[in-house]
Formats: sequence, C-alpha cells, structure tokens
Amino acid sequence: MPMYETPTVAFIIPCYNETDVLPLTIRTLQSLLMQWKEERLIAHDSFVLFVDDGSKDATWACITAIHEQDDQFHGLKLAHNVGHQQALFGGLKESRTQAECFISLDADLQDDLGIVPAFLEQFHIGHDIVYGVRADRSSDSWFKRTSAEGFYRVMTLLGVETIPDHADYRLMSRRSVETLCDFPERNLFLRGIVPTLGFKTTTVSYQRQRRQAGESKYPLRKMLQLAWDGITSFSVRPIKLLFFISVLMLIVSIGFVGYAFYRQMVGETINGWTSLMMSIWFIGGLQLFGIGLIGEYIGKIYQEVKRRPRYVVEEKRQ
Ligand code: UDP
Ligand code: MG
Repeated sequence: MPMYETPTVAFIIPCYNETDVLPLTIRTLQSLLMQWKEERLIAHDSFVLFVDDGSKDATWACITAIHEQDDQFHGLKLAHNVGHQQALFGGLKESRTQAECFISLDADLQDDLGIVPAFLEQFHIGHDIVYGVRADRSSDSWFKRTSAEGFYRVMTLLGVETIPDHADYRLMSRRSVETLCDFPERNLFLRGIVPTLGFKTTTVSYQRQRRQAGESKYPLRKMLQLAWDGITSFSVRPIKLLFFISVLMLIVSIGFVGYAFYRQMVGETINGWTSLMMSIWFIGGLQLFGIGLIGEYIGKIYQEVKRRPRYVVEEKRQ
C-alpha cells in the first residue's frame, strides 16, 4: 500500500463519433479502474469524464447508458463539434474542482493505460504535469511520421516550446488545470500552452497502440489546421522575419543606387533605366518595411488580445 494519500483522479476523454470504440474503451476502463481502486492507486471517487464533442452518431446515448449503470462514468455533451482541443479544455474546465489530478486521453485507446501508475508515481514525487511521450512512431504511416517530425522542427525554429512526440496524453495537477483555465484564448493549442504554465514537469514514455476500432477523426485537413494553429498562436517570428527582410532589401537598394549611378556615369545605360531601377528597389523595400512595421504592432496587439496571465504563482509562504 502506498505511503501517500490516494488522489482522486479524473480521466478526461473527448469523443467525436466514437460509437465503434466506446464499448471497448468502457470495458477496458471499468476493469482498470476497479483494479486501481483496489490497489489504492486512485481514490474511490475517481471517475471518467467522456466529453461528447457534438457527435452525430449514438456516442451520447452510449455515454448516458453507461452512466446509468455505473456512476464512475460521467458525461458532458457539447452542443456542437468544436474540435478535440476545445473539447478537452471544456472537460478539464468543467471538472476542475472535482479531482486532484486529471489525465487526458483519446477515446480510441491508442494511449497506453499501462503507464497510469507511472504517471501517478511522478505526481506523488511532486510533478504537476507529466507528459506521455511516444517511444517511437512505428504505428504511424510514413507520411504522419515525417510531417510530425517537420512540424516539431519548425516549432523549435520559431522558438515555441513543445514536447516532441507528446500528443495530449498527460497528467495535470489541479493547480495546473486551474492555471490553464486562466488562458482565455480561442485558438487553442494545448501542447503549446501547457509547457508555458511552468511548474515541475516530467515525461514518461510509452508505446502508442493502433486505434482499437473505428476510424481516425483527424483527417489531413484537421491535422494541418492544428499545426497551423500551433505555429500562428505562439510565434510572432514570421512577422519579425518580414521586418528583417525589408531592412535587408533597403540595404540592397542603397547598394543598387550606387551601382545604377555608376552605370549612368559611364554611359552604359539607356535613358530612364537608372531612375526606374532605383525606384523599383527603393519603393519595394520601403513598402515591405512599412508592412513589417505594421506587422510588429499587430504582433503586439495579438499578444495583448490573448490576455494570457503574466505570471503563474507556484508557491506562497505567508
Ligand atoms: N476528437 C474530438 N473532436 C474532433 C476530432 C476528434 O473530440 O473534432 C477526439 C476523438 O474522438 C479522439 C481524439 O479526439 O478521442 C483523437 O482523435 P483521433 O484518434 O481520431 O486522432 P488520431 O489518433 O487519428 O490522430
Ligand atoms: Mg487516435
């Protein structure tokens, strides 16, 4: 028996049209929860929260049916499909006062539940956030693997802190969830926001399984959307790059003015060439400079409107 107090754990599972896999997920969780509760790994009032992300099939009927039979399964139905990230955020936010730690996972059992004890062990030794990181990507297609690698590389280049090969399978303590709720932004890219919360974090690696039933609810379109959201919600470097290019172009234009003058002096040009070339380079550079400058201000406005908290208090002794 563990020496520490057993925490109440909430398992938050967003579901979108998951009738094919939900019965299996429920059976698996039922036996695991029983085992973990018996082992006093999780408290008796620990529960699973299924967030129905506006499904069009019988997902909600499935959730309500299991809730009637077994009250450790809770349900939250969103009125329409808002996407995995928002659904997960909603689940965390709505249940944030009901548990001490929160484990988010997918409905299709791709995330290996066998590492939950390892998650909890890290939680007990004082980690607020424990990321599940995929040991390898052998269960992915070549395309998904390469695009994911490229994505993490671009994110690093742009100065965004992310945990490579971590999807949204993680444990979060109550206070980190409360802090997350202070981020009111709409373009939600949780994998980018969570690392900015601070707190003590660690990773646990696992082997990602294949989807147990049903089809992926993340078609290429949604995947690209998520990647784009990730980049544009976190980095103003593309704007800064524009500014940098414009300065470079202005410097080139100055050099070019000298060159055009020289050609004019030695009489190697036809009439009008010098003034035309000088204007093209100079005006082009000036325009880009103007856009870059406006971009800098828009970048600032963009950071302001996010209304992210300025700091997060980790501890206080008074
Ligand atoms: N999901 C969701 N809303 C959506 C799309 C997906 O809640 O609009 C859920 C889905 O039910 C699953 C999780 O997000 O629990 C991950 O989706 P999926 O397994 O289809 O993605 P993949 O593993 O193929 O990337
Ligand atoms: Mg999946």
